[in-house]
Amino acid sequence: MIADLTMDQNAPEVRGVNVDPQTRCAHFHKPVDIIAVKMKCCGVYYACKDCHVALADHEIEVWPQTEWGKKAILCGACGSELTIGSYLACGYHCPVCKAEFNPLCQHHYRYYFALYARI
Ligand SMILES: [Zn+2]
Ligand SMILES: [Zn+2]
Ligand SMILES: [Zn+2]
Repeated sequence: MIADLTMDQNAPEVRGVNVDPQTRCAHFHKPVDIIAVKMKCCGVYYACKDCHVALADHEIEVWPQTEWGKKAILCGACGSELTIGSYLACGYHCPVCKAEFNPLCQHHYRYYFALYARI
């Protein structure tokens, strides 16, 4: 099942496979898996990179460090959009609502953010 989701009138659309109201998806669905990432390639929030693979028709582009001031992380708990820089510095807690994020996400940063890309 493929679901699009709108958390409230102001929250951006999040795409993914079996996305729930806090942006968990078929691939990452622990209680702490509550962030979505706006993809550099298409400007659309996806629940995870695997959802992008499943639903988009193009390759993921990683965010260059020069663009880490842009808001590209969505907290699924409160709907706040965080800049990439503030997300990476937040210590795995939403700076707005204090919800816990999954620390294991750091192992996937390289799929989204250029500094962590393997060359
Ligand atoms: Zn894309
Ligand atoms: Zn997913
Ligand atoms: Zn939050």
